[in-house]
Amino acid sequence: MRQFKTESKKLLDLMINSIYTNKEIFLRELISNASDAVDKLNFRSLYDESIKLDEGDLAIRVAFDRDARTITISDNGIGMTEEELERNLGTIAHSGSEEFKEANAQSQGDAVDIIGQFGVGFYSAFMVASKVRVVSRAYGEDAAHVWESDGLEGYTIEPGERASHGTDVILTVRDNEPGRDGEEGESYDRYLSEWGLKDLIKRYSNYVRYPIQMMVTKS
Ligand code: ADP
Ligand code: MG
Repeated sequence: MRQFKTESKKLLDLMINSIYTNKEIFLRELISNASDAVDKLNFRSLYDESIKLDEGDLAIRVAFDRDARTITISDNGIGMTEEELERNLGTIAHSGSEEFKEANAQSQGDAVDIIGQFGVGFYSAFMVASKVRVVSRAYGEDAAHVWESDGLEGYTIEPGERASHGTDVILTVRDNEPGRDGEEGESYDRYLSEWGLKDLIKRYSNYVRYPIQMMVTKS
C-alpha cells in the first residue's frame, strides 16, 4: 500500500466528510478528465504521424451495473503509465485540485461554496464511491496498470490488462445512508440508473466535444 501525501489526505477527508451536498459533480469531473485524455491523444496525433486516429472512434462511455453497484467511465484517450498513475492520482498537484485547496485554506472552512466553483478533480469520485479502481494503458505501451483506493490512507498499483489504450475509472458506489436525528439521508442509488446518469450528463457535461455513450447493462 502506498500512502497518499498529507495534503491529499486532507482534501480527501474534506470531500468525503463535508456537509457539501452537491456530490453529483463527480461525473462531470470524471468525464472532463476523459475528454482531456482524448484531447491529449488527438493533439499528439497532429505532430506524430505514426498515430492514426479515426475521429469517429473517439468517445467516452458511461456504464453502470446495479447489482455490482459500479459505474464505469471509459475513454480511449492517451492513458497513463504506472509512473503517471502514481504521479497524477497519488498526489494533489494538479490544476483544479490545487486551486480548490488554496481557496479552501483562505475561506476558513466554508467548503460548501468552494467545491462548486472549481474543478475539484478526480478525488471528487470518493464523495459517492467507497472504492475507486482505475485501469489504464498508455498509448504506445503494451502493459496496463490498475490503481485502486478506498480514499482513506493510500492506494495500490498493480499490473493489469486492457485491450487497448485509454482508461476505465470504476466506482463502487456507496450504500444509501438513512437519515438520522431528523436529518435527511443520502441516496446514492439514483446514480445507478440510466435516468440518473443521463440527467447528470445533460446538466453538467453538455459542452463535452466527444460523444458520450451510455451503456446499459441488463441484469
Ligand atoms: P486536473 O484534471 O485538474 O488536472 P484531476 O484531479 O481531475 O486534475 O486529475 C489529475 C490528473 O490525473 C490529470 O491531470 C491527468 O493527468 C490524470 N488523469 C485523470 N483522469 C485521467 C484519464 N481518464 N486519462 C488520463 N489521465 C487522467
Ligand atoms: Mg480534472
